[in-house]
Parts: sequence; C-alpha cells; structure tokens
Amino acid sequence: MALGYRLQQAGVETHVIEAAPRAGGAIATEQHDDCVVECGPESLRPGSMPAWELIRDLGLAPQVVGADASAKRRYLLLEEGLVRTPEGILDALRGPLVGKRSFLRIFAEPVVRPGADRSASVRDVLARRLGSRLADKVADPVVAGIFGGDPHALEFASVFARVQALEDQHGSWLVGGMRRRAPRDPAAPKVPFTFRDGMQTLTDTLVEAQRDQLRLGARVTGLERTGGAWRVCTDDDAVAVDHVVITAPAHAAAALVDDSLSDWPHAPLASVHLAFVEADLPRPLDGFGWLAHSRVRRDVLGAIWVSAVFRSHARPGVALIRMMVGGARMPSLVDESEHGLVEHCRGVLADVQGLHATPLWTHVARHRPGIPQYVRGHAARLARLRRDLPAGLHVAGWGYGGIGLADGMTAASELAERLVR
Ligand SMILES: Cc1cc2nc3c(=O)[nH]c(=O)nc-3n(C[C@H](O)[C@H](O)[C@H](O)COP(=O)(O)OP(=O)(O)OC[C@H]3O[C@@H](n4cnc5c(N)ncnc54)[C@H](O)[C@@H]3O)c2cc1C
Repeated sequence: MALGYRLQQAGVETHVIEAAPRAGGAIATEQHDDCVVECGPESLRPGSMPAWELIRDLGLAPQVVGADASAKRRYLLLEEGLVRTPEGILDALRGPLVGKRSFLRIFAEPVVRPGADRSASVRDVLARRLGSRLADKVADPVVAGIFGGDPHALEFASVFARVQALEDQHGSWLVGGMRRRAPRDPAAPKVPFTFRDGMQTLTDTLVEAQRDQLRLGARVTGLERTGGAWRVCTDDDAVAVDHVVITAPAHAAAALVDDSLSDWPHAPLASVHLAFVEADLPRPLDGFGWLAHSRVRRDVLGAIWVSAVFRSHARPGVALIRMMVGGARMPSLVDESEHGLVEHCRGVLADVQGLHATPLWTHVARHRPGIPQYVRGHAARLARLRRDLPAGLHVAGWGYGGIGLADGMTAASELAERLVR
C-alpha cells in the first residue's frame, strides 16, 4: 500500500489488489475498554527517513505518539531471573548481563575481522564479534522476541541487514554506529513510536488516500505474460499492466511465480493481551517488558508492558500486558484454544512477574503462517528468485527482505523510484 501511494503520487496508474475484505495485512488495531489493542505490529522503529516521509506526507505527524522514556529499560528472562539490559556504559560494566569480560570484548569489536561466511547464523556472528558469553545470553531471547525464531537457524545478514551494512561499510558495528547520521528531519521521532489510535491509523489513511486504485476482497489467482504486458487475474476480473509487484507472503506467491516459494519457512505466533487493575500488580510496569531465553522457558517468547510503553494505549488505572507465544520455539501452542492460551499466559505471568490477579479482560490474536524466517541461505535464495523473475515482475514486503514495517516502507519508496524512472 505504501508503494501504491508513492506510485499514485508520481502519477502512475496503479492497481492495488488485496485478497482480504480489509486492507492492512498483519497491521490490525482494535479498541477494548478504552484501550488500544494491537493484533499485529506494536510500533515503528525510529531512524528510517522513507518511513517518516511517508507518515509526514500522509499528514499523520500530529498523531504520532513516542514510547515513554522508561521504555528504554528492557529485561531478559535468564536463569538468574529477570535481568535488566544496561542503559549506559557504567551500567553495562557493573551489571550482570555484560560485566567486565564481555565489556572488553565489545570494545574490541572494531578489530574483529569481517567474517567470510555471508550465510552465518545470528548466534555465530554475535559470538564472533562480541564473544560467546554475551551471544549465548542475548541472541536467543532477542531473536525470539523480534523474529519468533531460532538464532542458530536465522541468517544474520538477512535479519540484521542494517547492522551487516555497518560491518560491510565500516568494518565494525561500533564504528559504523557512531558514524551513522541522524535523520535529516529534526521532527522525526527519536524513539519507537505509534499513533494515538494505534498502528491501523497508517493503513486506514493509506486506504483513504488510494480509494480509487484499491480493490478489496480480490485474490490474485494467476499472472499471464501477453506481448509486452502482464495480465493480473482475479476470480472474476483481469487487468493488464506493465509491472507487477507481488507483496503477498511467499506461500501465496508460490502459486503465481515459483513453486519452491511454498517451502520458505514461517513461525506462527499468538498475541495475548491481558488487562489488569493497575493496583493489583505486585510491582509497577517500569519498562518495555521482557524477552525469555529458551533455556529458561520455551513456552513464551516475551511480554510487552503496553501501558508503560504507550501510556495513552490504556485507560488510567489499567495495566495492559501483551504476551507473545509460539514462534519457531513452540509453534503448536498457537493452536491452543483461546481459553487455553489465556490460562497459559496467566501461569507464565504468575511465575515470572508474581502476578496472580484475575484479568479484567483478555484478547487473543493469531498469526498464521506468521513471521517469515530468513533461515541460513535466505539472501542467496532471494537473489536467485529475483534474478530468475521475468521482466516486469517484482517481489517486495516482509516475505522477502526486511521484517519490520520501516523496511517495507523503505523498499516501497526505493521500488517506486525505480519503476518511475
Ligand atoms: C505479531 C506481530 C508483531 C509485529 N510487530 C512489529 C513491530 O512492532 N514493528 C514492526 O516494524 N513490525 C512488526 N511486525 C512486522 C510487520 O507486521 C510487517 O513488517 C508488515 O505487516 C508486513 O507487511 P506486508 O505488506 O509486507 O505483508 P502482510 O501484512 O502479510 O500483507 C500481505 C497481504 O497480502 C494479501 N494477499 C495474500 N495473498 C494474496 C493474493 N493471492 N492476492 C491478493 N492479496 C493477497 C494478504 O491478504 C495481506 O493483506 C510484526 C508482525 C507480527 C505478526
């Protein structure tokens, strides 16, 4: 939809064809009891100019809500319990997570030689650059929390492409990070952000902006090359175009372009919201939340303390917690009944946070096939796919390159520029 909007702005006749009766894909926001409940993405990362420019051009800047300052505080659930991630150099040096040994390894990162294996796993690259001790502690919970995946299986250069680019350009993450320029627009958010009424504000606004070119409830069932043009067929219609950009997930694209796409792996995920009376909590929610190491718990990926991160997303007096379960760790959990998932999450909260209160209400959303898994070899597979696509056929979206929304918006503006040229 971001691409459709950019092309429309450039005066290109565009058709956006969406199989579902609603637009937005994984982005879906619901309102419950004066609280904002995200079924899909919770926030956008700062620092992406294409994402920010899109938001600004859509007139959404006044609705942007930044994460609370306390959200910088994050916890990992390790053998020793909930461990706070460091918020500064001294904190890192003294705290249990990094400590003196790993601290020295981090400082030595600029002298570590770039690795030769472009398909190395997240765990192996972290161990090579920062040492095994730190890699073993952080790779697992972080990869589970962001990608629902396994750090031994996922390919570093694909899932952390921006960090890989720092190594490619500067030989070091630390040096590259220090040289990275701040976004050119001083109004651009510096912290993770959302919108007053939630993430769906973005897709609802994109829908409004391109009503005339958007078709909902129209599944693309076939692509035919006729002469120099493409015929895009849906169940009851067809349209002729010069270029087709497939943004459907790989398994859906398989029937349209290449059968082998049906094997690209995904990790299903369930998102469970639990709302509590704030006064019933044994301790206040004072950060972003926590991510669990699979050595400690395989039955949960982590928890976001929504009402602490975005205060306006919960009505006063309500503590809103969002738990993520399933992923590559325990995909079968996603098939549990709604009641089963809620009871499971209540048990986890009792164990991890000492929270035994009865929730005011709960909400469950499931994502199947879920988060695309860029497993080792992904970049090579994607390059082959792109190379072999016939002229005028393109793939974009999180199914192929870049899991986050900002990655999708960046790809949209780059592709729009190429197609308009
Ligand atoms: C639980 C969860 C939490 C997340 N949290 C964050 C976060 O906090 N921050 C962040 O940046 N990202 C987050 N993400 C990732 C983010 O949601 C994705 O980057 C984004 O939604 C991908 O958008 P997309 O358009 O590429 O794909 P999708 O949203 O999957 O959309 C693909 C669309 O293609 C349509 N389609 C499929 N087949 C066909 C067909 N044959 N014809 C026509 N249409 C078809 C589908 O109906 C769907 O609407 C999260 C994802 C999940 C699931």
